[in-house]
Formats: sequence, structure tokens, C-alpha cells
Amino acid sequence: MRRKLAAGNWKMNGSGAALAELDEMAKAASNGAEILVCPPATLIGAAASRAPGLAIGGQDCHARASGAHTGDISAAMLKDAGASHVILGHSERRADHDEHDEDVRDKCGAAWEAGLVAVVCVGETLDEREASNTLDIIAGQLAGSIPDGATGHNLVVAYEPVWAIGTGKVPTTDQIGEVHDFMRASLERRFGPGVGRSVRLLYGGSVKASNASDIFHVSNVDGALVGGASLKAADFVPIVDALN
Ligand code: 13P
Repeated sequence: MRRKLAAGNWKMNGSGAALAELDEMAKAASNGAEILVCPPATLIGAAASRAPGLAIGGQDCHARASGAHTGDISAAMLKDAGASHVILGHSERRADHDEHDEDVRDKCGAAWEAGLVAVVCVGETLDEREASNTLDIIAGQLAGSIPDGATGHNLVVAYEPVWAIGTGKVPTTDQIGEVHDFMRASLERRFGPGVGRSVRLLYGGSVKASNASDIFHVSNVDGALVGGASLKAADFVPIVDALN
């Protein structure tokens, strides 16, 4: 049985005052689904102390453990601050910071080395979908971004079609199901059926309370990676409830 997971990615949003939202989110955490909140790195320590019932994660890490990398944060530092997870390879990192699969793969190895769960993001652009390349793109990103050594405990995969992020556009449940079934089969082939079946697969891109239930009924969807609707407990808790 894969435990359901509701993950919030706050992106570059949130100040100390926003941490009050975690109080209501933490109350929803006892209901079954695991809740992960990934605030900006500046808030990780305070978030972890304030809401011990929530899992707290980073949004990126450096591939090295330490060194002369001004402005960067290592996986070990995230862990030390109270994080248990880290989002890697988000399409905004791939686009804004020119991150490629090899970079994500190195960061994933560093995250595992530090004892963090890697939430590896994959997803096609609209052009790629319209050219019927979605499954090829996903296959390449999965193969390239995840190192050997994945388990159901150290890896979560998030399918986030780039065209659905922050746009209000959501793929049909058939389209989501096609990709999630494909990802499950790919992970089973590469890592063996036991591991492949235990890795949780999240859908992300314009998830909100009104569409969450339909998405969560799709096969091989084990939860969501939520952006905008994870900033406020009033928006996020109903999504968590839809998982339970
Ligand atoms: P939205 O939920 O705001 O579309 O963002 C999705 C996302 O990118 C989560 O990582």
C-alpha cells in the first residue's frame, strides 16, 4: 500500500507570517495522507519547528555536499534545517536555471546521500504534447533524472505537464492516467516490480479543491504536488481531504 501524499510547493512565496497557515494544515495531517510542505529555504527551519506533524522539504539542492558555491544550499544543509524531502528538477528550475536531466540526477544522488526523499519532477511542454512526444519525453526524463538505487522510501515522482502549471489548464483524467500508468511500468521495469510499485506518483499542475477528487481517482495517482493552492490552508486542506 502506498501512503497518499499531498505536497505543497510554495515556490518563491511566503514570509514568516505565512507560517501560520501550517497550523491548520498540521491538523489535517492526522487523517491518513502524508502532508509535505516545501516553503522557500529561508523558512524551512521555522516551518519544521512550528509544525512537527508535517513533512517539510526544500525546492532544490546543490549536487555537492559543501564548498565554494555562493548562494547554493546543499542537501545536508536542508536536512540539518529540518527538511526530510527535496523537490528536484521542477520545470521552473529546468527553464530558469538551465537544469538538465544529468543535473537532476546528480542532485538526486546528493539528496539520498544526505538522507532526504527526492521528489523528482518530469513533464512535457505543450509543443511536445501536440507533437505526440509526451511519453518519449517522460521516458527520457525518468531515465536521465533518477540515479540507480531508487526505493519506495527515497523517491517520489511528480508528473507536472509544463503547460498545466499555473495556467488553470488540466489534462484530462485519461491523459493523466496514460502518463501515470506509463511511469509505473517504467519504474517497475528499471527497478523491479517491488520498488516500482512502491514509489509514489504525484500529479501536479493547477490542482485545486474542485478538481482534486477526479484526479485522485485516476489509476496510479498517489497524490498531488500543488503550487498556488498550497499557500493557504483554506485551499490546501480540502485537497488533502480529497485524498482521505
Ligand atoms: P500550480 O498548482 O500553481 O499550477 O503549480 C504546480 C507546480 O508547479 C507544483 O510544483
